[in-house]
Amino acid sequence: MLAAVLLAGALACPATGLSVAVLGSGGPIAEGRAGPAYLVHVEGAPRLLIDAGPGALLRLGEAGVAPESLDAIALSHLHVDHAGDLPALLKSANFADPPARLALFGPDGRGLFPGLRQHVTALISERSDVFRYLADWLAGPKPRLTITEVNSADPDSPRETLLVDRPAYRLSAVVVHHGVVPALAFVVRSGGQTAVLAGDQSEFSTGFDTALAGSRPGLLIMHHAIPEGPGQPRGLHRPPAQLGEAAARLGAGQLVLSHNMKRALDRQAEGLAAIGRSYQGHVTIAGDGQCFAALLPQ
Ligand SMILES: [Zn+2]
Ligand SMILES: [Zn+2]
Repeated sequence: MLAAVLLAGALACPATGLSVAVLGSGGPIAEGRAGPAYLVHVEGAPRLLIDAGPGALLRLGEAGVAPESLDAIALSHLHVDHAGDLPALLKSANFADPPARLALFGPDGRGLFPGLRQHVTALISERSDVFRYLADWLAGPKPRLTITEVNSADPDSPRETLLVDRPAYRLSAVVVHHGVVPALAFVVRSGGQTAVLAGDQSEFSTGFDTALAGSRPGLLIMHHAIPEGPGQPRGLHRPPAQLGEAAARLGAGQLVLSHNMKRALDRQAEGLAAIGRSYQGHVTIAGDGQCFAALLPQ
């Protein structure tokens, strides 16, 4: 049923307002879902790809969306499950005629993790030992691929960085805490509607909590990577109880769970109960290809 809808080339996104299609609801283990990838629609038109996990290219194709038609691709961080399909997207867009231009946003580097520019340069530049044959994306004084890094040094900072400012919508980033990994959450605002894509984040994302407290997003997408209970990587991800607390703190109109890992799904009743202790709004465990509208604040 789901596959039939996707193969028909249509995501069931509303024709008006702000909505987000979950192209990939899983990652990083091969458990039958694409890695995180979100297609932001404004007035029914796909405008932004947030994250490019493995399977994003396939899901975009199923939706009938060419990567080069998008205003921008924004990567929350450079873990494989969120960025692995980037070279495949660039290769696909290389077939566009006239040659495509793309805008790419993501975190700067810190410690073990190179920033977005170094990451992309290592993959596709003239000096790359990986996909050097894609180097024309970065060639010339005005490269067809523009790379913008967001300062991700301080997850305690409540600063929002504006990345895309269009008449119909704005995209901004907030730094989050995801272990030692430079990482971002994204906020999209259009008219009176707001969607927050929280990305991979731990409960130590105090800047996110402060920046967005009471912001009442009509859609909050958070990552359901670990179950309640001990023995989980708490410094990387929020357990369900913390997802509920964050949703309540923001005053979210609805909470959509993505990055659904089997270890969390196996204990989803316990997880949903933990969320429900703080958050009484609607909670959905997303599947690949589902679209969610950003509700207007009540
Ligand atoms: Zn991650
Ligand atoms: Zn992840």
